[in-house]
Amino acid sequence: MKATFEKLKTLPEVQKGMKFIEDDAQNTFDQILELVQIPAFSRHEEKKADRFQEMVETEGYKTVRDEVNNVYTIIEGSDPKAPTLYVSAHLDTVFPLDTPLNIRQEGNRYYCPGIGDDTAHLGDVLCLLRAFRESGIKPRGSVILGGNVGEEGLGDLYGMKNFFKNNADKVDGFLSIDGSGEGVCEAGTGSHRYKVSFKGPGGHSNGDFGMPNPIHALGRAISKFADMPAVPDPWTTFSIGVIDGGTSINSIAMECSMLVDMRSNGKQELDDLDFEFQRLMRAAVDEENARWKRDRKLLATNPHLGYQDREPADRLVEMTIEQVGDRPVGNQTPDAEICRIAEACYESVGRKISFTGAGSTDANIPLSLGIPAMAICGSGKEGNGHNVNEWFEFTDFGVGIGKIFLMILGMVGVEGETDPLLTRRDR
Ligand SMILES: [Zn+2]
Repeated sequence: MKATFEKLKTLPEVQKGMKFIEDDAQNTFDQILELVQIPAFSRHEEKKADRFQEMVETEGYKTVRDEVNNVYTIIEGSDPKAPTLYVSAHLDTVFPLDTPLNIRQEGNRYYCPGIGDDTAHLGDVLCLLRAFRESGIKPRGSVILGGNVGEEGLGDLYGMKNFFKNNADKVDGFLSIDGSGEGVCEAGTGSHRYKVSFKGPGGHSNGDFGMPNPIHALGRAISKFADMPAVPDPWTTFSIGVIDGGTSINSIAMECSMLVDMRSNGKQELDDLDFEFQRLMRAAVDEENARWKRDRKLLATNPHLGYQDREPADRLVEMTIEQVGDRPVGNQTPDAEICRIAEACYESVGRKISFTGAGSTDANIPLSLGIPAMAICGSGKEGNGHNVNEWFEFTDFGVGIGKIFLMILGMVGVEGETDPLLTRRDR
């Protein structure tokens, strides 16, 4: 692997491409500043996808836009037996559409929500397309380059799910460009997310006392859920992030709900956790409904009873569990081929790679399908991600993007010069 990258660095076309990337930094940065001002909350990426698509076409590339607004172009390789690599940055951000997207500059640091995560790296993709064109290099395997939707929270990876639903049999590896620095996320943390709703007829806190109470059921559910055992290996977590519901202090609520997040680096552990969660939710509702039946006789003495057509204790709380997120686990370790190629590539440009362990990235989807994948860092320097004070520093475009150019060429090979390092899958 090392020899391949050393050889690549001596090729005139590669040197031309690397030099171009360095010289193209200001142009790339200008495109980043334009794109970041287009709102692109997850599942609302249309406008940013439109502009990104135009930018790709302006560089002379034909584009594909799929039904969910993923945009990409295909640089056809010369060898149909060589592997195909898909490289993408995500179009969406965590910021709702009404978030002000004004750029504030302090020296070399530019503040704007979404600038580092992941708009800067859409710029990297555009720069890579220009580098391929300007260098005239001929890859052996095909390279798919683009921008995808739905990486952040509510997107639930719907962009990747759609792409791989249609193309899993055409791709041998995937690189998500997400973040700045030397970090590489080589595995996928899985997550299951639910909205749990409790509903009942509701009533007066005094007059209908004895009626099962949705909020009490929710409290029982939280208490049980909060007491689940911790599993440290593989790392497994659970949390209730939002609770909602109720009418007034003197009402038995008709409805309440909660949002539940569960994650694990192990598929079995995530499935086990999910099973236990569902069991505890049902148990909580059953307990709330049973609790009032036990006191039925006592409650019949309620002096305010009489305007209900049934005894309150028979008016049950019902529960529904709706899945709102499903990110599959992707198991892969740093000794996987794609990780070793990346490591050799980083070394060849004098950088030390740092594997960060499992994360929740676009790479989860291909990894869960057995397709080698990673989320790697691109240009610049960034901070305050997912915060309105997010910033990006206009620096390190040459190596930041250049190393990805080299990595792609190493993986798919160069016509007449190097064999692909990435193994073509049996697909
Ligand atoms: Zn991101």
